[in-house]
Amino acid sequence: MKTFTVPTMQRVDIVDITSDVQSAVADSSVRKGIIVVYVPHTTCGVMINEHADPDVVRDIKMQFEKLVPYQAGYRHLEGNSDSHIKTAMVGSSETIIIENGRLVLGTWQGVFLCDFDGPRTRKVHLKILSR
Ligand code: ZN
Repeated sequence: MKTFTVPTMQRVDIVDITSDVQSAVADSSVRKGIIVVYVPHTTCGVMINEHADPDVVRDIKMQFEKLVPYQAGYRHLEGNSDSHIKTAMVGSSETIIIENGRLVLGTWQGVFLCDFDGPRTRKVHLKILSR
């Protein structure tokens, strides 16, 4: 398993980590297999989505805020229930196929760390399985 960290800059921060994941695949010398990208947090998740147009991430953040407002009469005393709910929606991991030593992603796809309770330093675990 490999781990790297991502510093986030805002309470809700969606960070493109595609190149970090691709670098780990390149360093592993695995040509064919799968990689699991996993975040060990309850208020931060991982998603695959468009990384060509930054307005897509902006729109995702805006709609998440509408769907799950920061304050909405939640009971969780820590005051970050919206962060837990958004993380539940996004999920904690992605699995990506590796072919020819590269991630198999669509033309417009990238891998994002989604911090819903930043800013802080988040961990990303990677597990590569060959073949
Ligand atoms: Zn909490």
